[in-house]
Amino acid sequence: MAHLHLDPDLRLPVDLLPADGRFGSGPAKIRQAAAAVVSTSPVLGTSHRQEPVRTLVGRVREGLSALYRAPEGYELVLGNGGSTLFWDIAVSSLIERRSAHAVLGEFSAKFAAASAAAPFLDEPEVDRVEPGSGVALAPTDADVYAWPQNETSTGVSLPVRRVVDDGSLMLIDATSAAGGIDVDLSQTDAWYFAPQKNLGSDGGLWLAFLSPAAIDRAYRLAAGSRWIPGGLELVGPIEQSRKNQTVNTPAIATLLMLDAQVQWLLDNGGIEFAADRTRRGSDALYAWASAHPLATPFVADPQYRSPVVVTIDFSEELDAAALAAVLRANGIVDVEPYRKLGRNQLRIGTYAAVDPEDVQALIRCLDWILERVG
Ligand SMILES: *Cc1c(COP(=O)(O)O)cnc(C)c1O
Repeated sequence: MAHLHLDPDLRLPVDLLPADGRFGSGPAKIRQAAAAVVSTSPVLGTSHRQEPVRTLVGRVREGLSALYRAPEGYELVLGNGGSTLFWDIAVSSLIERRSAHAVLGEFSAKFAAASAAAPFLDEPEVDRVEPGSGVALAPTDADVYAWPQNETSTGVSLPVRRVVDDGSLMLIDATSAAGGIDVDLSQTDAWYFAPQKNLGSDGGLWLAFLSPAAIDRAYRLAAGSRWIPGGLELVGPIEQSRKNQTVNTPAIATLLMLDAQVQWLLDNGGIEFAADRTRRGSDALYAWASAHPLATPFVADPQYRSPVVVTIDFSEELDAAALAAVLRANGIVDVEPYRKLGRNQLRIGTYAAVDPEDVQALIRCLDWILERVG
């Protein structure tokens, strides 16, 4: 086991340190410029039913639609409760009879469990693989197919392509993909996410691009015999979003920082700019981990390696938790692995807000520390 000694009091030379030490996978780095908007905005603390906040919601909806070239008929819908609440909304308001789920980590497992628990649905089909692996769903008799574009707990990224073209809905968890990885929305019916990852804001909201087929399904199920609690209903959020409002009070600060991040991405070249940044940071880390004698990328198959959440396993001679603790003591925070994964690992968020230069600095810091173990 861990016999390499790591001095917990190591102090990294200041000139090696990244300019910003936040490398979390969520909540994640919020750019200073986005946070600064909050303190000066005249809309903070004003009514979400009035024009200034509605203009803000409209900018967020239009900005995200431009960023992802939303196809004709797709609508950006939002509400309170984060991606976790959207799973329950999907169970109540989008799955008609049966869903099929790719389960490759904690987040994809939670949606499958929510569907399995619903007494009005048939037992879902669950295609489960080992953490660190990817999987593609096969056609079955489901009316919803669900998988994450990026499984944040393991750092596995999956392609987004329709499994079938028979009217079944493709529900894609894009919580840690949105704002950092591209997608062809026409391959999806609900591409849902929250703002606290690549979108560089705080948590608490869910957002979803809904296809015309998903909107039809939501209206149909709402008109049927199933009892849907008001908070898990989707027609209300669809209709409020069309008016640039939300069913109940949103966090305006979260919307302001989200808007700032979306405009920053658009001003710098859009999703290609974001994808290039995340790719540069993550490529550097995977190359480093592949070459370092104590490290190895956790995701063995390069095609599944996430460009936004990099998981690196360490040889058992070295205690990765002690390494994370030294980094934390030096201001480099939140690189601990996903708590339930239980691996000797670091997990590093290379989201759009993270400067690729800071990832290079992090690598220099890792090298400096690892040269001093023994
Ligand atoms: C963070 C995350 C969630 C949970 O998001 P909340 O907004 O905290 O509910 C769900 N799915 C994925 C893939 C995530 O990364």
